[in-house]
Amino acid sequence: MEFFPDVFEIFEMPEELKLLRDSTRKLVNEKLIPREREIDETGKIPEDLLNTFKELGYFGITIPQEYGGIGAGFTGYVLVQEELARTHECFNAIISANNGIGSLGILYDGTEEQKKKYLPRLASGEWLASFALTEPNAGSDAASIKTRAVKEGSKYILNGTKHFITRGDIADIFIVMAVTDPSKGARGISAFIVEKNFPGVRVARRHESMGSDVVGQAEIVFEDAEVPEENLIGEEGKGFKTAQKVLNDGRLGMAARALGTSKRLFEEAVRYSTERVQFGQPICQFQGIQWMLAEVAALIYHMQWAVYSTALLHEKRPRINKEASIVKFMATEWAWRIADIALQIHGGMGYMKDFPIERFLRDLRALRIVEGTTEIHKNIIAREILRMAG
Ligand SMILES: Cc1cc2nc3c(=O)[nH]c(=O)nc-3n(C[C@H](O)[C@H](O)[C@H](O)COP(=O)(O)OP(=O)(O)OC[C@H]3O[C@@H](n4cnc5c(N)ncnc54)[C@H](O)[C@@H]3O)c2cc1C
Repeated sequence: MEFFPDVFEIFEMPEELKLLRDSTRKLVNEKLIPREREIDETGKIPEDLLNTFKELGYFGITIPQEYGGIGAGFTGYVLVQEELARTHECFNAIISANNGIGSLGILYDGTEEQKKKYLPRLASGEWLASFALTEPNAGSDAASIKTRAVKEGSKYILNGTKHFITRGDIADIFIVMAVTDPSKGARGISAFIVEKNFPGVRVARRHESMGSDVVGQAEIVFEDAEVPEENLIGEEGKGFKTAQKVLNDGRLGMAARALGTSKRLFEEAVRYSTERVQFGQPICQFQGIQWMLAEVAALIYHMQWAVYSTALLHEKRPRINKEASIVKFMATEWAWRIADIALQIHGGMGYMKDFPIERFLRDLRALRIVEGTTEIHKNIIAREILRMAG
């Protein structure tokens, strides 16, 4: 159902991006949505679909062609994320770090050797990446991480624990933030590329979670882990800056995911409301239901505008801290509200696993927490307002 204006009608974007968006939409409608129940039942992404993703280059959408990707940039990736978010969240989860927080740090600040060694493997999907910042005692206050990296000869020795790391149990490399100079706070944090097979790297456990669990989260422990000095990204002490850059991109991606899932929930709610009969008529004939649908449509309309205008702004201006925060917190909060309305329109059926609504609701809940909670984004926005006010 094409209720909303096509973003290509509103914004000028290259024709190749439209082809990428349209082919992804076709894939989602014809191949992915019909397999959602199977994925729920097995808890696994089917091998044939993973291979399709590799063949189509979905692990390297943002990675330039010279490093083996398809080079569609972050706007291309936002378009793909929106489409994939209309189906099971595991598809976005499996490709997200290779296109975002697990590869962009290397692309933006890595050496040529690092780019040549890691990016082609990530772009092809041969290797999976994870981004490891959060620790048991350092979540929102990310600059207070304790994982330590000490230089010994030509190696760094890492000690510490990271938790909630998406893909942590299946990743081949981790982009790890660790402290190289404890006296300097955020300016003493450095970023490292850590391969899972380096001595001293261990997956301690996989977390059990409320949703987002086909591609889950894990706890990673570094016990005198040996990382060659050439795996430092950029310079010592610049890791937090690298993290902030890639997290801003990631936040825009989270908003695109919130948008895509909201559109699917809207479609499901409209369909159900026209089919379900109570008091002798389809429930969509009741004004109470009509107002819910109208509210959802208005939220999605604004969300779409905000997501794509921010993505295109980012093409022109790399630093989009406050804009990324605004769009991430707004879209994820609204998507949560939309999921709740969609469930309400489905009545008891929305609560049952016969329909995908309850799964979308559980998976969406994480988006208000990951890559900065709503409260932290409000803090970032408020800080910027007060800075401008002098
Ligand atoms: C599904 C999932 C996947 C994740 N994947 C990754 C990953 O791949 N890599 C990674 O590094 N991390 C990952 N995370 C971690 C995520 O980024 C953190 O959970 C998030 O940053 C919040 O940290 P916390 O959970 O420690 O909450 P806390 O920081 O303990 O916050 C608890 C509550 O206090 C509030 N709060 C904290 N400080 C303030 C303040 N200054 N003002 C107002 N309110 C405040 C928070 O908003 C929240 O409501 C993931 C988390 C989840 C749930």
